[in-house]
Parts: sequence; structure tokens; C-alpha cells
Amino acid sequence: MTFFLIVLSAVVLAWLLYFFFIRRKTLPTAPDVKRCSVCGAESKYGYSENAEEKTKSLKSVCTTCLVSQLKNDYRTFSAQAVVIQPALGPPCYVFHSHQEWGKSFPKSKIDEDTRTYLFRMDTHCRDCGQKANFLWIESSGLTAHNFGNVLRKGFSETLLPRNPKPVSLCATCCVDRIAETLNEKGIAYSEVSGPKGAEDGFVMPMAY
Ligand SMILES: [Zn+2]
Ligand SMILES: [Zn+2]
Repeated sequence: MTFFLIVLSAVVLAWLLYFFFIRRKTLPTAPDVKRCSVCGAESKYGYSENAEEKTKSLKSVCTTCLVSQLKNDYRTFSAQAVVIQPALGPPCYVFHSHQEWGKSFPKSKIDEDTRTYLFRMDTHCRDCGQKANFLWIESSGLTAHNFGNVLRKGFSETLLPRNPKPVSLCATCCVDRIAETLNEKGIAYSEVSGPKGAEDGFVMPMAY
């Protein structure tokens, strides 16, 4: 009788385990988990080739694939740009060139600030000494509610008083700092674009 009970419980246990694993395998993945279109890992970002295009095609990407895409964009960019550190809150982290921004928002002061600060920036990377074409500005105090102020009044009046002095960086060190901030603060963006073309401009967290 005891032997029979042991065999029976072993059979029941085996069946339960089998059932549990088969079910686990066939359960569909949660519908709200987006997958990276490059490697299939969990995606937290929408990458767009160009923030200035009217019809945008956003590609879902994970952090690793986003960073390798951005390295490519920043390294091939031939002009200079102000890069404001990623911040939690605004849904986008995108590049705008002077030409395109000035046309749409002629009264916005960020354009003027960008020109002034890029003109006098150090041309050596603070982190590695290579040629620098990005000016990094930290973003303490920047939120989903006040990024519009930064665009309107410029960063010299809004961000710089509460952040360290801007530093010059090369493409690699600049994207390294972006990646570090994204990982540290667990930031997700629905749209990210890197600098493109031959015109100076700026990258910052914002919404449309
Ligand atoms: Zn990926
Ligand atoms: Zn560097």
C-alpha cells in the first residue's frame, strides 16, 4: 500500500511539473512588452533616423542597440552640437539643427545660447583628449514641466546656474555619458534621434 502511494504521488508530481513547464512555454508574452527590432531584447526606446522628418518611422530598440546606433550617428556627424544630459520626464531625446529650429521658433533663445557656447568651446575632449565637437551640459532640475522654459529662455539662464560648467566631449565619450545616464536613471524615451547633417544644433530631452 505504501509503495503504491509513493508511486502514485511520484506520478502526480511528474505530471504537475510537466504541465507547469509546458504551460510556461506556451504562455504568450505580455502584450505591453515591446521587443527590440534588432536583437529581440526588451525595448525601451523608439529610434528615429531624423527628428526633423515629417513622416517618422520609429524603430523599437533596446538600450544596447540604441547606444550602438547613437555611437554611429555621433561619430559621423560633421558639425558641432550642444548635448543636454538625458532627464526623466520628457518623452523625447532628439537633435534639432539651427537651420530647422530657427525657422520654426525664431524667438526661442536656445538657438542663440547654442551658437554662443559652441563658438567658444574647448576643442579637446575633457575625458580622452581627442577632438571634441560636443558640448555636454548636465540637466539637474530639468523636468517634463519646465523643458519649455529651457527652449524659450535658453540654457544659460535656466540650467547652467544649477549645474556644473559645460564640458567638451568627443563623440565616443559623449555617447558613453548618455548611456551611463540612461542606465543610472532607468530612463525610457518614445523617440530618440542622433545629430545628423552638416549643421550645428542641439540635443535635449523634450516633447512636441
Ligand atoms: Zn537590441
Ligand atoms: Zn573623448
